[in-house]
Amino acid sequence: MAPIATIELDHRFADDLPDLAVDWDASPVPAAALIVLNETLALELGIDAEWLRSPAGVAVLAGNAVPPGARPVAMGYAGHQFGSYSPRLGDGRALLLGEVTGSDGRRLDVHLKGSGRTPFARGGDGRATLGPMLREHLIAEAMHALGIPTTRSLAVVTTGETVVRTRPEPGAILTRVAASHVRVGTFQYARALGEGTSLEPLVRHALDRHHPDATDSERPALSLLQHTVAVQAHLVARWMLVGFIHGVMNTDNMTVSGEGIDYGPCAFMDRFDPATVYSSIDHGGRYAYGNQPAIAQWNLARLAEALLPVIDPDGETAVALATETLAGFAAHYQRAWHEGMAAKLGVTPDGAGAGDLFDQFISLQTLAGTDHTSTYRALASTLRSDPVAVQQHVPDHGPELEAWLAAWRIALGGADPASTADAMDEVNPVYVPRNHLVEGALDAAAVDGDLGPFEQLLELVTDPFVVREDRQAEAQPAPDGFDARYQTFCGT
Ligand code: AMP
Ligand code: MG
Repeated sequence: MAPIATIELDHRFADDLPDLAVDWDASPVPAAALIVLNETLALELGIDAEWLRSPAGVAVLAGNAVPPGARPVAMGYAGHQFGSYSPRLGDGRALLLGEVTGSDGRRLDVHLKGSGRTPFARGGDGRATLGPMLREHLIAEAMHALGIPTTRSLAVVTTGETVVRTRPEPGAILTRVAASHVRVGTFQYARALGEGTSLEPLVRHALDRHHPDATDSERPALSLLQHTVAVQAHLVARWMLVGFIHGVMNTDNMTVSGEGIDYGPCAFMDRFDPATVYSSIDHGGRYAYGNQPAIAQWNLARLAEALLPVIDPDGETAVALATETLAGFAAHYQRAWHEGMAAKLGVTPDGAGAGDLFDQFISLQTLAGTDHTSTYRALASTLRSDPVAVQQHVPDHGPELEAWLAAWRIALGGADPASTADAMDEVNPVYVPRNHLVEGALDAAAVDGDLGPFEQLLELVTDPFVVREDRQAEAQPAPDGFDARYQTFCGT
């Protein structure tokens, strides 16, 4: 099918769930300009990239025009933010334009972030700024390239307005593409409206989109909970394996599709430390790196609570079924993490002592504060021509490293070292969006109007497994002292 010069949008969410969607239009912007376009994604969606670049396409990406047949809505949701419940959050500055059917037949949401105030805006101005929208584009596309489930970014446009946050910045709008925008908080909101009105239809809608095999199951709501527990356990395990800290894992920022969403104060960890927190507002370390699996479980318990009346009319039965399902998180998480670590270390997941080998490597990383990303590439190098490659990554802990390397060699058994190293390099990235590189690129774009560093970094992190001889520096951790001072901000 040839790409078409428009976006053909359906409005299934708006039709299915009128109580969760408010018809709304974007606030027009004075001077829309395209900053970045994801041509590969446009192609996957069957949309003509040339058209998206044209004034008509940019007008859609800026919210100044609505594609024919579309019915934009602001979605309602609630959420626990840092543990406190807010009954009414919702899309305060975003709109679901509708759903597009991609060239592979999948139905995907097209959503504008930064498109002006909506009835959910509370005190907010409804706008977003260039730095944070470029950050979301960069992180989402890096995640996708790493093979980690994520919402995508189709484009970022500037609006011609100046928006003041910690500093004045160009106003911007991100076009986000997602399996859906149904969040744990959407269920909390629907539950508050009443189970008959919205909760049951929302369960059907979510199952239809994310777990269609279960639409006819005897207990659809329980099937949805089971599915969400499994996909979220998998997602968080993948984050842990690459050293990613989401930073704001509120229940309104957790999908039931299992895609990562809302890359605000997030960061990739350089120096390995489970207690790492970068977000300036996370004073208690609730969303620290090492807490993420527990927080995911906490959020899933909130989803289970919201679903109770539609899991079973009998309260005790519903609680028993939900509790059993939530308890399954640990096994899903452990399996995903274990398989991931086995691949990162080039060993078979079910080999004797594999679990201990993984745990001991994490202990060693913690003890030595290793650079999370490059240490795994150095390990692969020890199997090739460079037997001492990993030693500089674990300074001052020579004996512990030697003991671990000895155990690792036993686990590797008789496998061919060169092909093991190649297999490890296919799962251990060389390049992740390191904080100092991200900040440098975003400052250049948002303050100096220079997109060069951003484009170069995007190119690198969307092809993360291949060493580039001319770009070795970007595979290195931040200069000394940067990490300890680094903070991310939520004022997006
Ligand atoms: P976030 O921190 O982006 O996940 O947003 C949390 C909630 O605050 C959501 O309900 C957003 O719609 C809302 N929000 C964030 N920034 C703004 C803004 N500038 N204007 C209106 N609503 C906002
Ligand atoms: Mg959010």
